[in-house]
Amino acid sequence: MMGQQMGGQQRLFYSFNLEDHVPQGHLLRGIDACLDLGGLRKHLAEHYSRTGRPSVDPALMIRMLIIGYSYGIRSERRLCEEVHLNLAYRWFCRLGLEDAIPDHSTFSKNRHGRFRESDVFRWVFDEVVRRCMAAGLIKGEGFAVDASLIAANASHQHSVQPGKTCDLGRSEIDTRPMREYLAALDGEVIAVAPRKISLSDPHARWTAATGGIAFFAYSTNYLIDTTHGIILDVEATPAHRNAEVDSTKVMVDRVEERFNLKPQRLIANTAYGTAEMLNRMVEEKAIEPHVPVFDKTKRGDGTFERDAFQWNEAADEYRCPSGKPMRRELRAYKKPRTHITKANTIIYRARQSDCANCAMKSQCCPNMNFRNIVRSVHERARDLARQIATTPAYERSRCERKKVEMLFAHLKSILKLDRLRLRGLTGATDEFTLAGIVQNLRRMAKLVSQGPPLDRIAARA
Ligand code: SF4
Repeated sequence: MMGQQMGGQQRLFYSFNLEDHVPQGHLLRGIDACLDLGGLRKHLAEHYSRTGRPSVDPALMIRMLIIGYSYGIRSERRLCEEVHLNLAYRWFCRLGLEDAIPDHSTFSKNRHGRFRESDVFRWVFDEVVRRCMAAGLIKGEGFAVDASLIAANASHQHSVQPGKTCDLGRSEIDTRPMREYLAALDGEVIAVAPRKISLSDPHARWTAATGGIAFFAYSTNYLIDTTHGIILDVEATPAHRNAEVDSTKVMVDRVEERFNLKPQRLIANTAYGTAEMLNRMVEEKAIEPHVPVFDKTKRGDGTFERDAFQWNEAADEYRCPSGKPMRRELRAYKKPRTHITKANTIIYRARQSDCANCAMKSQCCPNMNFRNIVRSVHERARDLARQIATTPAYERSRCERKKVEMLFAHLKSILKLDRLRLRGLTGATDEFTLAGIVQNLRRMAKLVSQGPPLDRIAARA
Protein backbone atom coordinates (compact mmCIF):
# COMPACT_ATOMS: atom_id res chain seq x y z
CA MET A 1 0.00 0.00 0.00
CA MET A 2 1.35 3.39 -0.91
CA GLY A 3 1.95 5.42 2.18
CA GLN A 4 1.14 9.08 2.52
CA GLN A 5 3.03 11.55 4.58
CA MET A 6 0.85 13.15 7.23
CA GLY A 7 1.36 16.81 8.08
CA GLY A 8 3.66 16.70 11.11
CA GLN A 9 4.73 20.29 11.49
CA GLN A 10 1.87 21.54 13.60
CA ARG A 11 3.09 20.25 16.96
CA LEU A 12 3.66 22.87 19.61
CA PHE A 13 6.05 20.93 21.84
CA TYR A 14 8.91 18.65 20.81
CA SER A 15 11.17 16.35 22.72
CA PHE A 16 14.44 17.20 20.97
CA ASN A 17 18.09 16.91 21.92
CA LEU A 18 20.58 18.41 19.47
CA GLU A 19 23.30 16.10 20.80
CA ASP A 20 21.37 13.03 19.59
CA HIS A 21 21.08 14.36 16.05
CA VAL A 22 24.80 14.73 15.31
CA PRO A 23 26.25 11.34 14.24
CA GLN A 24 29.08 9.98 16.38
CA GLY A 25 31.45 9.83 13.39
CA HIS A 26 30.69 13.36 12.17
CA LEU A 27 33.77 15.38 11.19
CA LEU A 28 32.76 18.23 13.49
CA ARG A 29 32.67 15.90 16.49
CA GLY A 30 36.29 14.98 15.83
CA ILE A 31 37.30 18.62 15.38
CA ASP A 32 35.39 19.63 18.51
CA ALA A 33 37.30 17.05 20.57
CA CYS A 34 40.61 18.52 19.35
CA LEU A 35 39.74 22.21 19.64
CA ASP A 36 40.40 24.06 22.86
CA LEU A 37 39.44 27.74 22.94
CA GLY A 38 39.69 27.94 26.72
CA GLY A 39 42.25 30.75 26.69
CA LEU A 40 40.59 32.77 23.94
CA ARG A 41 38.69 35.18 26.17
CA LYS A 42 41.84 35.95 28.16
CA HIS A 43 43.81 36.52 24.94
CA LEU A 44 41.20 38.97 23.63
CA ALA A 45 40.25 40.59 26.95
CA GLU A 46 42.20 43.83 26.47
CA HIS A 47 40.61 44.39 23.05
CA TYR A 48 37.06 44.58 24.47
CA SER A 49 35.58 47.41 26.47
CA ARG A 50 34.63 46.70 30.10
CA THR A 51 31.35 48.60 29.70
CA GLY A 52 28.55 48.69 27.15
CA ARG A 53 26.44 46.09 25.36
CA PRO A 54 27.84 42.53 25.34
CA SER A 55 29.40 41.65 22.03
CA VAL A 56 28.99 38.45 20.03
CA ASP A 57 31.04 35.73 21.76
CA PRO A 58 34.43 35.60 19.94
CA ALA A 59 34.54 31.81 20.45
CA LEU A 60 31.28 31.56 18.47
CA MET A 61 32.80 33.53 15.58
CA ILE A 62 35.96 31.40 15.59
CA ARG A 63 33.87 28.21 15.61
CA MET A 64 31.76 29.52 12.72
CA LEU A 65 34.88 30.40 10.73
CA ILE A 66 36.29 26.90 11.38
CA ILE A 67 33.07 25.44 9.95
CA GLY A 68 33.31 27.79 6.96
CA TYR A 69 36.89 26.84 6.09
CA SER A 70 36.23 23.13 6.78
CA TYR A 71 33.40 22.98 4.27
CA GLY A 72 34.57 25.56 1.72
CA ILE A 73 31.97 28.17 2.79
CA ARG A 74 34.04 31.35 2.77
CA SER A 75 31.24 33.81 2.16
CA GLU A 76 30.29 35.02 5.64
CA ARG A 77 26.75 35.82 4.53
CA ARG A 78 26.31 32.22 3.34
CA LEU A 79 28.05 30.87 6.42
CA CYS A 80 25.45 32.57 8.66
CA GLU A 81 22.63 31.00 6.61
CA GLU A 82 24.22 27.55 6.77
CA VAL A 83 24.80 27.69 10.52
CA HIS A 84 21.20 28.83 10.95
CA LEU A 85 19.87 25.77 9.07
CA ASN A 86 22.37 22.96 9.81
CA LEU A 87 21.93 21.08 13.10
CA ALA A 88 25.52 19.81 13.21
CA TYR A 89 26.84 23.33 12.67
CA ARG A 90 24.61 24.62 15.49
CA TRP A 91 25.86 21.84 17.75
CA PHE A 92 29.53 22.67 16.97
CA CYS A 93 28.87 26.37 17.64
CA ARG A 94 27.23 25.57 21.01
CA LEU A 95 24.01 27.16 19.74
CA GLY A 96 20.54 25.99 20.74
CA LEU A 97 17.70 25.60 18.24
CA GLU A 98 16.33 29.02 19.01
CA ASP A 99 19.60 30.91 19.44
CA ALA A 100 20.18 33.76 17.02
CA ILE A 101 23.04 33.67 14.52
CA PRO A 102 25.34 36.72 14.43
CA ASP A 103 24.95 39.09 11.50
CA HIS A 104 27.49 38.53 8.71
CA SER A 105 28.80 42.11 9.09
CA THR A 106 30.09 41.20 12.59
CA PHE A 107 32.82 39.14 10.98
CA SER A 108 34.29 41.87 8.78
CA LYS A 109 34.01 44.40 11.61
CA ASN A 110 35.96 42.15 13.98
CA ARG A 111 38.41 41.01 11.33
CA HIS A 112 39.55 44.54 10.56
CA GLY A 113 39.47 45.51 14.21
CA ARG A 114 40.23 43.44 17.26
CA PHE A 115 40.97 40.15 15.46
CA ARG A 116 43.84 41.74 13.50
CA GLU A 117 45.08 43.80 16.45
CA SER A 118 45.20 40.72 18.67
CA ASP A 119 46.42 38.36 15.89
CA VAL A 120 43.80 35.93 17.12
CA PHE A 121 44.00 33.54 14.16
CA ARG A 122 47.72 33.08 14.80
CA TRP A 123 46.91 32.45 18.47
CA VAL A 124 44.37 29.75 17.54
CA PHE A 125 46.83 28.24 15.05
CA ASP A 126 49.55 28.01 17.72
CA GLU A 127 47.13 26.48 20.22
CA VAL A 128 46.17 23.79 17.69
CA VAL A 129 49.86 23.01 17.02
CA ARG A 130 50.45 22.72 20.79
CA ARG A 131 47.54 20.27 21.03
CA CYS A 132 49.09 18.25 18.19
CA MET A 133 52.40 18.21 20.08
CA ALA A 134 50.67 17.08 23.26
CA ALA A 135 48.97 14.27 21.30
CA GLY A 136 52.39 13.04 20.11
CA LEU A 137 51.76 13.87 16.45
CA ILE A 138 54.90 16.00 16.04
CA LYS A 139 58.40 14.54 16.38
CA GLY A 140 60.37 17.61 15.27
CA GLU A 141 63.01 15.49 13.49
CA GLY A 142 62.27 16.38 9.86
CA PHE A 143 60.54 19.46 8.46
CA ALA A 144 59.44 20.06 4.87
CA VAL A 145 58.75 23.42 3.28
CA ASP A 146 56.98 24.40 0.07
CA ALA A 147 54.76 27.10 -1.41
CA SER A 148 51.68 27.11 -3.60
CA LEU A 149 50.05 29.84 -5.66
CA ILE A 150 46.54 30.96 -4.79
CA ALA A 151 44.75 33.38 -7.10
CA ALA A 152 44.10 36.81 -5.58
CA ASN A 153 40.70 38.47 -5.61
CA ALA A 154 41.88 40.86 -8.30
CA SER A 155 41.04 41.27 -11.96
CA HIS A 156 43.65 42.03 -14.62
CA GLN A 157 41.26 44.65 -16.04
CA HIS A 158 41.58 46.84 -12.94
CA SER A 159 45.33 47.22 -13.05
CA VAL A 160 48.19 49.43 -14.20
CA GLN A 161 50.28 48.13 -17.09
CA PRO A 162 54.10 48.03 -16.74
CA GLY A 163 55.70 51.31 -17.72
CA LYS A 164 52.45 53.31 -17.34
CA THR A 165 52.16 56.17 -14.86
CA CYS A 166 49.54 56.05 -12.15
CA ASP A 167 48.63 58.16 -9.16
CA LEU A 168 48.13 55.44 -6.55
CA GLY A 169 46.87 57.94 -4.01
CA ARG A 170 43.82 59.09 -5.97
CA SER A 171 40.51 58.98 -4.15
CA GLU A 172 38.64 56.33 -6.19
CA ILE A 173 41.29 53.71 -5.38
CA ASP A 174 41.76 54.80 -1.77
CA THR A 175 40.91 51.32 -0.46
CA ARG A 176 42.23 49.43 2.57
CA PRO A 177 44.52 47.12 0.52
CA MET A 178 45.86 50.18 -1.34
CA ARG A 179 46.52 52.03 1.94
CA GLU A 180 48.31 48.95 3.32
CA TYR A 181 50.38 48.71 0.14
CA LEU A 182 51.38 52.38 0.23
CA ALA A 183 52.27 52.09 3.92
CA ALA A 184 54.48 49.07 3.10
CA LEU A 185 56.25 51.11 0.42
CA ASP A 186 57.38 53.32 3.29
CA GLY A 187 57.09 56.65 1.51
CA GLU A 188 58.55 55.42 -1.75
CA VAL A 189 56.53 56.87 -4.62
CA ILE A 190 55.92 54.72 -7.69
CA ALA A 191 55.61 57.07 -10.66
CA VAL A 192 55.98 54.38 -13.31
CA ALA A 193 54.74 50.86 -12.63
CA PRO A 194 57.73 48.42 -12.86
CA ARG A 195 55.30 45.55 -13.44
CA LYS A 196 51.58 45.04 -13.66
CA ILE A 197 49.96 46.31 -10.45
CA SER A 198 46.40 45.52 -9.43
CA LEU A 199 44.44 48.54 -8.24
CA SER A 200 42.14 46.28 -6.18
CA ASP A 201 44.92 44.39 -4.42
CA PRO A 202 48.33 45.93 -5.16
CA HIS A 203 50.23 43.44 -2.96
CA ALA A 204 49.17 40.56 -5.22
CA ARG A 205 51.84 39.62 -7.74
CA TRP A 206 51.19 39.23 -11.46
CA THR A 207 52.61 35.79 -12.25
CA ALA A 208 52.68 33.11 -14.93
CA ALA A 209 54.64 30.68 -12.75
CA THR A 210 52.10 27.89 -13.33
CA GLY A 211 53.01 27.91 -17.03
CA GLY A 212 49.52 28.97 -18.15
CA ILE A 213 47.80 32.33 -18.37
CA ALA A 214 49.23 34.94 -16.00
CA PHE A 215 47.12 36.07 -13.03
CA PHE A 216 47.39 38.02 -9.78
CA ALA A 217 48.32 35.69 -6.94
CA TYR A 218 49.68 35.18 -3.45
CA SER A 219 51.76 32.27 -2.22
CA THR A 220 50.85 30.23 0.80
CA ASN A 221 54.01 28.84 2.43
CA TYR A 222 53.81 25.76 4.65
CA LEU A 223 56.39 24.39 7.05
CA ILE A 224 55.30 20.90 8.11
CA ASP A 225 56.51 18.16 10.39
CA THR A 226 57.03 15.12 8.20
CA THR A 227 55.87 12.56 10.81
CA HIS A 228 52.14 13.10 10.25
CA GLY A 229 52.10 16.12 7.95
CA ILE A 230 51.05 18.57 10.69
CA ILE A 231 51.49 22.20 9.57
CA LEU A 232 53.86 23.91 12.01
CA ASP A 233 53.76 27.33 10.40
CA VAL A 234 52.06 29.13 7.57
CA GLU A 235 53.08 32.40 5.94
CA ALA A 236 51.46 34.46 3.18
CA THR A 237 53.77 36.17 0.68
CA PRO A 238 53.31 37.78 -2.73
CA ALA A 239 53.72 35.16 -5.46
CA HIS A 240 57.46 35.55 -5.90
CA ARG A 241 60.12 32.88 -5.50
CA ASN A 242 62.51 35.06 -3.46
CA ALA A 243 59.73 35.95 -1.04
CA GLU A 244 58.81 32.26 -0.71
CA VAL A 245 62.42 31.28 0.01
CA ASP A 246 62.84 34.13 2.51
CA SER A 247 59.68 33.07 4.34
CA THR A 248 61.39 29.76 5.21
CA LYS A 249 63.80 31.54 7.54
CA VAL A 250 60.92 33.39 9.21
CA MET A 251 58.97 30.15 9.73
CA VAL A 252 61.92 28.05 10.98
CA ASP A 253 62.87 30.79 13.48
CA ARG A 254 59.27 31.26 14.62
CA VAL A 255 58.70 27.53 15.17
CA GLU A 256 61.92 27.32 17.20
CA GLU A 257 60.94 30.35 19.26
CA ARG A 258 57.30 29.38 19.88
CA PHE A 259 57.46 25.60 20.19
CA ASN A 260 61.15 25.02 20.91
CA LEU A 261 61.36 22.78 17.84
CA LYS A 262 64.38 22.64 15.55
CA PRO A 263 64.61 19.89 12.95
CA GLN A 264 67.66 17.76 12.15
CA ARG A 265 66.83 17.98 8.45
CA LEU A 266 64.86 20.35 6.26
CA ILE A 267 63.35 19.05 3.02
CA ALA A 268 62.59 21.33 0.10
CA ASN A 269 62.69 21.49 -3.70
CA THR A 270 65.33 23.07 -5.96
CA ALA A 271 63.87 26.58 -5.60
CA TYR A 272 65.13 26.54 -1.98
CA GLY A 273 68.60 25.27 -2.95
CA THR A 274 70.17 28.73 -3.32
CA ALA A 275 73.61 29.27 -1.81
CA GLU A 276 72.30 31.78 0.75
CA MET A 277 69.50 29.49 1.86
CA LEU A 278 71.78 26.44 2.18
CA ASN A 279 74.35 28.47 4.09
CA ARG A 280 71.66 29.71 6.46
CA MET A 281 70.59 26.13 7.19
CA VAL A 282 74.07 24.66 7.56
CA GLU A 283 76.09 27.43 9.19
CA GLU A 284 73.46 29.36 11.17
CA LYS A 285 70.94 26.69 12.15
CA ALA A 286 72.98 23.44 11.96
CA ILE A 287 70.19 21.76 9.98
CA GLU A 288 70.92 19.13 7.30
CA PRO A 289 69.69 20.49 3.95
CA HIS A 290 67.83 17.73 2.10
CA VAL A 291 67.49 20.08 -0.84
CA PRO A 292 68.68 19.76 -4.44
CA VAL A 293 71.40 22.35 -5.07
CA PHE A 294 70.32 25.20 -7.35
CA ASP A 295 73.16 24.91 -9.86
CA LYS A 296 73.55 26.90 -13.06
CA THR A 297 77.07 25.67 -13.83
CA LYS A 298 75.97 22.66 -15.90
CA ARG A 299 77.41 22.72 -19.42
CA GLY A 300 75.61 21.03 -22.26
CA ASP A 301 78.32 21.44 -24.91
CA GLY A 302 80.43 18.39 -23.97
CA THR A 303 83.22 20.42 -22.33
CA PHE A 304 84.52 19.53 -18.86
CA GLU A 305 81.92 19.83 -16.13
CA ARG A 306 82.81 21.48 -12.88
CA ASP A 307 83.24 18.06 -11.18
CA ALA A 308 86.36 17.52 -13.29
CA PHE A 309 88.12 20.30 -11.35
CA GLN A 310 89.54 19.39 -7.91
CA TRP A 311 89.07 21.85 -5.06
CA ASN A 312 91.93 22.29 -2.57
CA GLU A 313 90.66 24.09 0.51
CA ALA A 314 94.09 24.61 2.12
CA ALA A 315 95.61 26.16 -1.00
CA ASP A 316 92.40 28.03 -1.91
CA GLU A 317 92.61 26.85 -5.51
CA TYR A 318 91.18 24.44 -8.06
CA ARG A 319 93.30 21.98 -10.03
CA CYS A 320 92.14 21.57 -13.60
CA PRO A 321 92.14 18.16 -15.41
CA SER A 322 95.67 18.79 -16.68
CA GLY A 323 96.85 19.51 -13.12
CA LYS A 324 97.28 23.28 -13.52
CA PRO A 325 96.27 25.61 -10.65
CA MET A 326 93.28 27.95 -10.94
CA ARG A 327 93.38 30.79 -8.46
CA ARG A 328 91.33 33.85 -7.56
CA GLU A 329 94.44 36.02 -7.76
CA LEU A 330 97.03 35.44 -10.48
CA ARG A 331 99.23 38.36 -9.51
CA ALA A 332 99.97 40.33 -6.34
CA TYR A 333 97.93 43.52 -5.81
CA LYS A 334 99.21 46.47 -3.79
CA LYS A 335 95.86 46.73 -2.08
CA PRO A 336 94.51 43.36 -0.88
CA ARG A 337 91.29 42.32 -2.67
CA THR A 338 88.65 39.74 -1.70
CA HIS A 339 87.59 39.12 -5.32
CA ILE A 340 84.05 38.52 -4.06
CA THR A 341 81.52 39.62 -6.68
CA LYS A 342 78.14 41.26 -6.08
CA ALA A 343 76.57 37.81 -6.48
CA ASN A 344 78.67 36.53 -3.55
CA THR A 345 80.89 34.41 -5.78
CA ILE A 346 84.63 34.17 -6.37
CA ILE A 347 86.03 33.50 -9.85
CA TYR A 348 88.99 31.12 -10.06
CA ARG A 349 90.96 31.46 -13.31
CA ALA A 350 93.53 29.35 -15.09
CA ARG A 351 96.58 31.10 -16.56
CA GLN A 352 96.16 32.02 -20.20
CA SER A 353 99.64 30.67 -20.90
CA ASP A 354 98.72 27.27 -19.37
CA CYS A 355 95.56 26.96 -21.46
CA ALA A 356 97.17 28.13 -24.69
CA ASN A 357 99.59 25.17 -24.62
CA CYS A 358 97.13 22.60 -23.23
CA ALA A 359 96.24 19.48 -25.20
CA MET A 360 92.80 19.41 -23.58
CA LYS A 361 91.80 22.95 -24.51
CA SER A 362 89.20 21.79 -27.06
CA GLN A 363 87.45 19.79 -24.28
CA CYS A 364 87.81 22.55 -21.70
CA CYS A 365 87.43 26.06 -23.10
CA PRO A 366 87.36 25.88 -26.93
CA ASN A 367 85.95 29.40 -27.36
CA MET A 368 87.87 31.20 -24.60
CA ASN A 369 91.50 32.02 -23.93
CA PHE A 370 91.34 30.46 -20.46
CA ARG A 371 88.90 28.54 -18.26
CA ASN A 372 87.34 29.91 -15.12
CA ILE A 373 85.28 28.38 -12.32
CA VAL A 374 82.72 30.39 -10.37
CA ARG A 375 82.62 29.38 -6.71
CA SER A 376 80.02 30.63 -4.25
CA VAL A 377 81.26 31.99 -0.93
CA HIS A 378 78.77 29.49 0.55
CA GLU A 379 80.17 26.54 -1.40
CA ARG A 380 80.81 24.52 1.77
CA ALA A 381 77.08 24.37 2.44
CA ARG A 382 76.42 23.55 -1.23
CA ASP A 383 78.96 20.71 -1.09
CA LEU A 384 77.28 19.31 2.02
CA ALA A 385 73.88 19.41 0.26
CA ARG A 386 75.40 17.62 -2.76
CA GLN A 387 76.88 14.96 -0.49
CA ILE A 388 73.56 14.44 1.36
CA ALA A 389 71.83 14.03 -2.03
CA THR A 390 73.76 10.78 -2.56
CA THR A 391 72.52 9.13 0.67
CA PRO A 392 69.53 6.75 1.18
CA ALA A 393 68.12 9.24 3.76
CA TYR A 394 67.78 11.79 0.97
CA GLU A 395 65.66 9.34 -1.07
CA ARG A 396 63.34 8.96 1.93
CA SER A 397 63.18 12.74 2.27
CA ARG A 398 62.16 13.07 -1.39
CA CYS A 399 59.14 10.88 -0.70
CA GLU A 400 58.29 12.80 2.48
CA ARG A 401 58.28 16.07 0.54
CA LYS A 402 55.10 14.87 -1.15
CA LYS A 403 53.26 15.31 2.15
CA VAL A 404 53.37 19.08 1.84
CA GLU A 405 52.23 18.89 -1.80
CA MET A 406 49.31 16.73 -0.70
CA LEU A 407 48.32 19.39 1.80
CA PHE A 408 48.17 21.96 -1.01
CA ALA A 409 46.08 19.58 -3.12
CA HIS A 410 43.74 19.12 -0.14
CA LEU A 411 43.60 22.88 0.38
CA LYS A 412 42.46 23.51 -3.18
CA SER A 413 40.31 20.48 -3.95
CA ILE A 414 38.60 19.76 -0.59
CA LEU A 415 38.69 23.12 1.20
CA LYS A 416 38.10 24.90 -2.15
CA LEU A 417 40.70 27.56 -1.39
CA ASP A 418 41.93 28.10 -4.95
CA ARG A 419 41.02 31.79 -4.99
CA LEU A 420 41.15 34.26 -2.12
CA ARG A 421 38.10 36.19 -1.03
CA LEU A 422 39.85 38.76 1.16
CA ARG A 423 42.22 41.35 -0.25
CA GLY A 424 45.63 42.61 0.81
CA LEU A 425 48.52 40.72 2.39
CA THR A 426 46.69 40.77 5.72
CA GLY A 427 43.59 39.26 4.08
CA ALA A 428 45.73 36.51 2.52
CA THR A 429 47.39 35.91 5.92
CA ASP A 430 43.98 35.55 7.61
CA GLU A 431 42.69 33.11 5.00
CA PHE A 432 45.85 30.98 4.88
CA THR A 433 46.09 30.84 8.69
CA LEU A 434 42.45 29.76 9.00
CA ALA A 435 42.96 27.12 6.33
CA GLY A 436 46.06 25.89 8.20
CA ILE A 437 44.07 25.67 11.46
CA VAL A 438 41.36 23.63 9.75
CA GLN A 439 43.80 21.29 8.00
CA ASN A 440 45.58 20.58 11.29
CA LEU A 441 42.30 20.04 13.15
CA ARG A 442 41.00 17.66 10.49
CA ARG A 443 44.23 15.66 10.50
CA MET A 444 44.42 15.59 14.28
CA ALA A 445 40.79 14.48 14.52
CA LYS A 446 41.45 11.64 12.08
CA LEU A 447 44.67 10.47 13.75
CA VAL A 448 43.37 10.74 17.31
CA SER A 449 40.26 8.76 16.39
CA GLN A 450 42.56 5.94 15.20
CA GLY A 451 44.19 5.75 18.65
CA PRO A 452 47.86 5.93 19.67
CA PRO A 453 50.39 4.73 17.04
CA LEU A 454 50.94 1.34 18.74
CA ASP A 455 47.19 0.68 18.82
CA ARG A 456 46.95 1.49 15.10
CA ILE A 457 49.72 -1.00 14.28
CA ALA A 458 48.02 -3.67 16.42
CA ALA A 459 44.67 -2.95 14.74
CA ARG A 460 46.19 -3.44 11.28
CA ALA A 461 47.91 -6.72 12.26
S1 SF4 B 1 92.56 24.31 -20.96
FE1 SF4 B 1 93.44 25.34 -19.23
S2 SF4 B 1 92.05 24.91 -17.55
FE2 SF4 B 1 91.51 23.53 -19.17
S3 SF4 B 1 92.63 21.66 -18.70
FE3 SF4 B 1 93.95 22.86 -20.04
S4 SF4 B 1 95.21 24.10 -18.72
FE4 SF4 B 1 93.58 23.30 -17.51
